[in-house]
Amino acid sequence: MSCPRLEVDLRKVRHNTRIIVERLAVPGIRVTAVTKAVCGHPAIARAMLDGGAVGLAEARLSNVKRLRQAGMACPITLIRTPMLSQVDDVVQYCEASYNTERAVIAALAVAARQQNTVHGIILMVELGDQREGIRPHDLGDMAQHVVDMPGVALKGIGANFACLSGLAPTAAKMQALTVLANDIDRQCGPFLETVSGGNSANLPWALEQPAIGRINDLRLGEAILLGVDPVTGDQIDGLFSDAFTLVAEVIEVDVKSMQPVVSPADRSSMAGFQNAPDISGTTRLILAVGQQDSDMTGLSMLVGTTLIGATSDHLVISMPDPALCVGSEMRFKMGYAALMRATAAPDIQIHLSNDRPAQYAPGADEPGTYLASV
Ligand SMILES: *Cc1c(COP(=O)(O)O)cnc(C)c1O
Repeated sequence: MSCPRLEVDLRKVRHNTRIIVERLAVPGIRVTAVTKAVCGHPAIARAMLDGGAVGLAEARLSNVKRLRQAGMACPITLIRTPMLSQVDDVVQYCEASYNTERAVIAALAVAARQQNTVHGIILMVELGDQREGIRPHDLGDMAQHVVDMPGVALKGIGANFACLSGLAPTAAKMQALTVLANDIDRQCGPFLETVSGGNSANLPWALEQPAIGRINDLRLGEAILLGVDPVTGDQIDGLFSDAFTLVAEVIEVDVKSMQPVVSPADRSSMAGFQNAPDISGTTRLILAVGQQDSDMTGLSMLVGTTLIGATSDHLVISMPDPALCVGSEMRFKMGYAALMRATAAPDIQIHLSNDRPAQYAPGADEPGTYLASV
């Protein structure tokens, strides 16, 4: 098999989705699966839908087109506010989009009228992450504006947390979103179909809160794909954290001393060199993979393995007494940035395993075959 490659176990993706879908069904929250970290890969998206996600969400129109070209007919929502230059395609390829700008909504409405359709609008509210969003006190006016505009339909409101600021959602913020949803329904009439609480960072809140208010949707990528809580980095109980594995090939094995002979002045310019660990008694390996392929600092190293550094095309690590030689393969579990970059990198081959059987019925994977790996 070719190297470097990304191995994807689709059964683990289906399992992770199904466990989260079942847990969130208890408080009455549905799962919209976010495919941006896998570049809109159609088979991975299909695994998320098979696991029970009600629809897909994407940040990039190019990924949405890839999904549509693969025949995905499910609802797809654009979760990054559309570029004004792309509104025609947004209307053509997406049922709905998250929006924060009047000019964009107006342009979407014009495009939708030209295409004889109605485009769904979900208004993104800023509740503290300080990335995108309408300020809460402007939301009512904006909602009324959307309701009054032919070509678009107000479908819901949403919030986002822990992306730019790292600020996790609190019960008080989520209660504020419920209050805003109730206010809009009172002011504008139509019942909001979707009140989307946020991303994977919302899972602890959603699963621990006795009262989730009006929130009936979460947009989940990382928790499903990597089985981890993005705020704490902890593995989520019962989920696989190894659905994705990066495999790279060893191209040099060397016992040479790695204490670099550099002056302190040179050291500051040694980009990519991780503060020169003492690695006497260890062996240095070079792998044919680099920053161009993935986020090298986002790979999980085996115990005893040290990341020495990475350049665009080389990953240098050290380990005591490796049973590896030139031509050996090494396998790495991946973090979010590593996954995101690997799925977009031209030299990474993606190998899928456990694709769904032709006669797939939801829930057909026998639960007994799963063992959560830690
Ligand atoms: C990326 C993103 C998500 C999904 O985030 P995860 O942490 O992968 O669950 C949800 N909503 C918005 C607006 C996003 O940009």
